[in-house]
Amino acid sequence: KQKTLAVIKPDAMEEHRDTILEEIRGRGFSVTQLKEAVLSREMAEEFYKEHKEKPFFKQLVEFMCRGPCMMLVLTKENAVEEWRAIMGPTDPDQAKMTSPDSLRARFASDMLHNSVHGSSNELHAEEKIRFIFGDICSD
Ligand code: ATP
Ligand code: MG
Repeated sequence: KQKTLAVIKPDAMEEHRDTILEEIRGRGFSVTQLKEAVLSREMAEEFYKEHKEKPFFKQLVEFMCRGPCMMLVLTKENAVEEWRAIMGPTDPDQAKMTSPDSLRARFASDMLHNSVHGSSNELHAEEKIRFIFGDICSD
């Protein structure tokens, strides 16, 4: 089975965490690792290093370490793509148009504060899972 890394971002932790967890389980994912933590600035920078040159990078890093995140390893057939579909597009306005049931359509407030993260491919999933959870689960 395939693994992906999901993150409930700080903007969704207080009000929507439990709903998102229910949705994850209801859609048939196994949660094989789970951790709540406040990311340090260094960890947030490393986590989103692919976006280092983007104009929103500084805001993104600040947002990601402003409070607790929940990080989960989700295991299921086709987990990477399925979790991305459940999240919906990056931009909540677009999400509301094209996938109104998606998590971002329901919970995101804008392009930056968009409630959830999901790995974009299997390679990224492996790398980010190792980064967040260490080598124990790198099978
Ligand atoms: P994620 O990687 O968090 O799952 P994504 O793959 O949909 O989201 P990316 O392009 O990888 O989108 O951007 C990473 C994150 O950076 C977004 O989820 C969002 O929080 C933020 N972001 C992306 N584009 C913008 C933008 N134009 N303005 C502000 N923030 C942005
Ligand atoms: Mg991304």
